[in-house]
Amino acid sequence: MILDKFSLNGKVAVVTGSDTGLGQGVSKAFVEAGAKVLGVSRVSSEDTQKMLGEDNFKFVIADLAALDPIDMIINTAVKEFGRLDILVNNAGVIKREDCIDFSVKNWDLVMNVNCRTLFFLSQAAAKQFMKQNSGGKIISIASMLSYQGGIRVPSYTASKSAVKGITMTMANEWAQHGINVNAIAPGYMATNNTQALRADAARSEAILDRIPAGRWGTPDDIMGAAVFLASSASDYVNGFTIAVDGGWLGR
Ligand code: NAD
Repeated sequence: MILDKFSLNGKVAVVTGSDTGLGQGVSKAFVEAGAKVLGVSRVSSEDTQKMLGEDNFKFVIADLAALDPIDMIINTAVKEFGRLDILVNNAGVIKREDCIDFSVKNWDLVMNVNCRTLFFLSQAAAKQFMKQNSGGKIISIASMLSYQGGIRVPSYTASKSAVKGITMTMANEWAQHGINVNAIAPGYMATNNTQALRADAARSEAILDRIPAGRWGTPDDIMGAAVFLASSASDYVNGFTIAVDGGWLGR
């Protein structure tokens, strides 16, 4: 039955940025679909654990600005739940400054979290999938700024454009191993990431005016796409970035 293909029963996922926002929504979706989840964030994910239960959701605290935690993350998922089937690269940061004054610090931090660690964590997950000979699913959270320039966020735009590109590169190489690498490009979602935009009345109105659906998205809005890309329903989807944007890109 087609709906069985969307089930994540028996699957084990790592979701980064699991304490809040979209990562919390994805963790909830995966547990509801039958998976066990190891959350990773630089702060505690205990709110998410309270919501989902200790049997279904465990977490580690790790700073993904550096590569050092990668082995620990994969090893903990395997130790706690016995295997790894799904990686969601959701953790991300955004720094707003005019291009003319943009600092090296804000360039490096955003590129390290959103792009460098995302790539090497994906590499480590793919190695684990190959070791298990199980195939697997890698889903990265991209952005509208994988397609557009944005305003005052050059390192974010660079990192999210890179996410879309390396999603295709990894998919090209790993599809032969039964590994699907795809991305989700959320539109403008009401989370911490967009707090500053929503607090700026003029920007907020301009953004809302341009969204055909007429509202900001929520973490619930990406649950369907996340489960689809994590499940065998998407076994022949490789290297694609799916927009979940209330129509923003089509405008
Ligand atoms: P958010 O700021 O609430 O979440 C960011 C998450 O990343 C948090 O869980 C945070 O703890 C984690 N994180 C940040 N830096 C980290 C680090 N150094 N180490 C470990 N974890 C770290 O906002 P969100 O909207 O939930 O963002 C989730 C993802 O979605 C991000 O990649 C973001 O770029 C992307 N995104 C968001 C929107 C939006 O409109 N909200 C749109 C497009 C893409």
